[in-house]
Amino acid sequence: MSDDKTTPSPARVVTIHADGAARRRARSQAKGRQPQAQALDEVRRLLAGQPLDRDLLIEHLHRLNDAHGHLPDALLVALAHEMRLSLAEVYEVASFYHHFEIVKDGGAAPAALTVRVCNSLTCAMAGSDTLKAALVERLLARSDVRVVEVPCIGRCDSAPAAVVGQHCVDRADAARVLQALADGRVQAELPAAIGYRTYVESGGYRLLDALRDGTRRADDVIAALSQAGLRGLGGAGFAAGRKWSIVAQQPAPRLVAVNIDEGEPGTFKDRFFLERDPHRFIEGALVAAHCVGAAAIYLYLRDEYAAARALLERELATLRAERPGLTPIHLRRGAGAYICGEESALIESLEGKRGWPRLRPPYVAQVGLFGRPTLEHNMETLHWVRDIVEQGPASFAQPGRRGRQGVRAFSLSGRVKRPGVHLAPAGISVQELIDEYGGGMLPGHTLYGYFPGGASGGMLPASLADLPLDFDTLQPHGCFIGSAAVIVFSQHDSARALALNAMRFFEHESCGQCTPCREGTQRAVELMSRPHWDQPLLQELGAVMMDASICGLGQAAPNPLLCAMKYFPQEFDDEPRG
Ligand code: SF4
Repeated sequence: MSDDKTTPSPARVVTIHADGAARRRARSQAKGRQPQAQALDEVRRLLAGQPLDRDLLIEHLHRLNDAHGHLPDALLVALAHEMRLSLAEVYEVASFYHHFEIVKDGGAAPAALTVRVCNSLTCAMAGSDTLKAALVERLLARSDVRVVEVPCIGRCDSAPAAVVGQHCVDRADAARVLQALADGRVQAELPAAIGYRTYVESGGYRLLDALRDGTRRADDVIAALSQAGLRGLGGAGFAAGRKWSIVAQQPAPRLVAVNIDEGEPGTFKDRFFLERDPHRFIEGALVAAHCVGAAAIYLYLRDEYAAARALLERELATLRAERPGLTPIHLRRGAGAYICGEESALIESLEGKRGWPRLRPPYVAQVGLFGRPTLEHNMETLHWVRDIVEQGPASFAQPGRRGRQGVRAFSLSGRVKRPGVHLAPAGISVQELIDEYGGGMLPGHTLYGYFPGGASGGMLPASLADLPLDFDTLQPHGCFIGSAAVIVFSQHDSARALALNAMRFFEHESCGQCTPCREGTQRAVELMSRPHWDQPLLQELGAVMMDASICGLGQAAPNPLLCAMKYFPQEFDDEPRG
């Protein structure tokens, strides 16, 4: 990469340095409220040795939040002073993310320890309401512990899931959570993953080495991805090879951003791969950076994955020590905002801002992170790069079912005997997925319906259990496969209740930037909470949200609602129809 370049952005002037990092031009001292000496001392101590670049604001907020379990107001004033930002800028970001809790001067701090109970679709079906109520009752007398409901934490295969501090309790019941508390198990447990040495011994990083020493060409790698039919596996499904070619043609400096922010209720495949074989996607990211000529790689990991973060920090440190001179890799921590899984919101968050999706064009491939052309990929997409090149495109593009090609990693959860990540042929139907991979339905449960692509992918009835699950197939039915998160429900569940659960999730996660989504999700929750649904009004509201919302969250939020009315009319027999 050439010398530093300066790129104007609408908000400020950002300088991209040779290491790919962006630093904002320092500006004059913060105005208004001045920091207290004690708070300033503490912020300086907590940030000792850390750069104070603007894009690190969320990282620094985490440092303060980790130290206190919340964000004391006085520390935010001191942080603004230290980072030479306006207090409004710091507050705007701190108040946007669910994992930051600002406590005003003199306000009551939250309990030192938080028990989080997931309340999203699969956990709700598995009794998270009862679990939360039991924990609240049993912990009533303890002022040092609080119990809160949280949206999907990516452990749907172990529903209901709870987290004590950062310690995950799978298939949780009150007794197991209380035991974890009594044992003081509050830290994340490092997963038993394939480490650097084992990965190298099995041929890992040979592909990267071959590209770096010129024995393999970038064009050949891109061609292999195209022949394999690799598509973005975060939901959008854009052809990977084509994306790499587009970004490679943009002016330097270019960057790579890896989306590990999977927050779609029902999705946990990225965590599955990451916690088992982290170097496979890291090598994929380094190969991608080499092929598109990127100066740096940014990994954006959701904050809920504390164990994966500890693992990644360890493995990246080993990689840097063992192979100096690779493209710099920056690990960034999300802060509990589902919208940051949207590619342009993720870019904003990587820049240390609120995760507000951008209007497009320009596209991220042209004007992305720090204003630079950016190759953004879901983590799983990069996980397959090495296999495709080493084993040949045909290995990935093997015949699927019903004329489809390749395999998909399905996150299967709900009323099945064997929930988990299952590699199954593209085009498989949900009935086949349940029977052949999920071990069949749970005893006493009969298939009633399913979400083919997480909360936003809509839902379908058992009568459509033979549809092929693949990209570009389910749209005529008002659904999509997205990140292949299949949630199965039975005659003991209510499609109407599940649709309300999904809408509550979208209301909670709406970034608030545009009215159709911000107000629409709120209004829909109100209407759907009533004993009788006003179906004509909900149809109209859903249409406005789909047509007028800025990003995919607001556009897809009505899918479960509309599907409930369309495919499960028996649940609305006594109500007027649209
Ligand atoms: Fe934000 Fe929702 Fe609008 Fe997307 S659709 S920009 S999430 S308010």
